[in-house]
Amino acid sequence: LALVLAACGNNSANPGTGTQQSSGAAAGSGIKVGVILPDTKSSARWESFDRPLLDKALRAAGIEPIIQNAEGDTGKFSTIADSMISQGVKVLMITNLSDESGAAIERKAKTAAIPVIDYDRLSLGGSADYYVSFNNTKVGQLQGQGLVDCLKGKTNPQIIQINGGPEDNNATLFKNGALSVLKPKYDSGEFKLAGDQAIAKWDNQLGNTTFQQLLTANGGKVDGVLAANDGLAGAVITALKKAGLAGQVPVTGQDATEDGLAAILRGEQCMTVLKPIDQEANAAAQLAIALAKNDKAAADRLATATERDPKGNRDVKSVLLTPELINKDNVKKATDSGFVKIADVCKGD
Ligand code: BGC
Repeated sequence: LALVLAACGNNSANPGTGTQQSSGAAAGSGIKVGVILPDTKSSARWESFDRPLLDKALRAAGIEPIIQNAEGDTGKFSTIADSMISQGVKVLMITNLSDESGAAIERKAKTAAIPVIDYDRLSLGGSADYYVSFNNTKVGQLQGQGLVDCLKGKTNPQIIQINGGPEDNNATLFKNGALSVLKPKYDSGEFKLAGDQAIAKWDNQLGNTTFQQLLTANGGKVDGVLAANDGLAGAVITALKKAGLAGQVPVTGQDATEDGLAAILRGEQCMTVLKPIDQEANAAAQLAIALAKNDKAAADRLATATERDPKGNRDVKSVLLTPELINKDNVKKATDSGFVKIADVCKGD
């Protein structure tokens, strides 16, 4: 409690301007950039962080952003894309719902000569011109290592893994990263894998029921949970509460959402991964701005990394940012980054 109060009593340290929606029209260039966000049920990040940050960064350059959310529906995703293409967007930025849904839109955009940026999720087998994301294998490594650290002192802990949506390439990268740390421990018998399930579309509600089933199947016993993001962590914590285990079983997360950080302060979640979404949104916006101005050379100068698309057998020009581990000792780092407000983290306490 002292920790919660200490962290929450320090409101003045936060600039707290990051999530404000910029108001007023674009400076009138008439140039439109379309952005399609994936859903509202897998993570609070898309509407709370990505939308306002992208909107702000694009407007600052006099671009008119058209930002829509596909609500987890591939049909809607494709309809929105069609409508943006016919509205004459100069660039499309998409966070796909699956490789196929992304690749299909990318084919249409190519026919219309509209460059595409894969935002956060790479569409395997697609034809995006650029990819902006984080080192997602590293995200998974931080989760695996974070769980190991939170389990110090426990002998032969039993682990349940609640993974992200199998249709999202990132979920595979996160899992592989986590297993690079955990698998040697499962293999040696130091840790026991007591349940392992991918959650379609990262659906938090489904994550909750799936975790309860795995827990019951394991006789109600669990010592640690690898949950792929804060939304799924919250779903797991709800189930742990019901079983009287919340606070005793470390749970991992990702996204440094307000709920995730608050759960860390309450001692119910052991860590999260901070992916500075302001950097991600700004990098993607800078690329889009260069492309909207037909300055491909400038875009190429920004995308200094490459990401392998094993399905399409190609290297995609990329901006890849660095994730950071957040636990109870450095929550302030997440709130200092400016797009999560300490007041929002502390509002439930
Ligand atoms: C993103 C995560 C997010 C998850 C669910 C992933 O592709 O990288 O930040 O939590 O999707 O939306």
